[in-house]
Amino acid sequence: MVSDEVIIISRNIKKCHPELQIKAEKLVSACKVNGLTIGIGECYRTVEEQDALYAKGRTAPGSIVTYANGISYSSHHQWGTAFDFYRNDGKGAYNDSDGFFSKVGEIGRKLGLEWGGDWTSPVDKPHFQLPYWGSTTVRLKKLYGTPEKFKETWKEVEVMAEKIYNWTVECPTWAIPTVQKLLNKKYLVGNEKGELGLTDTMLKLLVINDRAGLYD
Ligand SMILES: [Zn+2]
Repeated sequence: MVSDEVIIISRNIKKCHPELQIKAEKLVSACKVNGLTIGIGECYRTVEEQDALYAKGRTAPGSIVTYANGISYSSHHQWGTAFDFYRNDGKGAYNDSDGFFSKVGEIGRKLGLEWGGDWTSPVDKPHFQLPYWGSTTVRLKKLYGTPEKFKETWKEVEVMAEKIYNWTVECPTWAIPTVQKLLNKKYLVGNEKGELGLTDTMLKLLVINDRAGLYD
């Protein structure tokens, strides 16, 4: 049996790839908007945790739940690139009688996630992963060797996922005069909360335009 401790440790989305964390959060809220309440289950698994799962139905009681043992790094969960979800509306965590899981799968696909329900063997409806390295972990293994080495590259990805500046004071000092000018002239308005939603790329373009005199 998988101990509760194992489950609690692996249910930490913060241990996953930064982009997956963002996508998991977006999935939960997009599902909610569509009347589908989900929770995030299994996320990142260590070698030991994967081995404990692999033992299920083999050397431990229960039925087989995975074909990937720990040291082979064959599960996307070991690379921090996958998470599982469950139904959280009180109708049973894995109750799919009304097509619940396919509806969530559809939303996840639109967010750029690979859905396990689209696979043929095994069909894994509660599973999502980042699509960039293929369905299996062969490419990840080839490129990075181990999940630890892979994790060392995550920081760059975090920088690539651009920071959002919602308020003038948050903006870099080089951009503040331009943002202020655009707000004063009402060329720039935020959303209903006043949030500006500006990225670095947008700020750079605005400042270039400002220097070119486009806003004078
Ligand atoms: Zn999974």
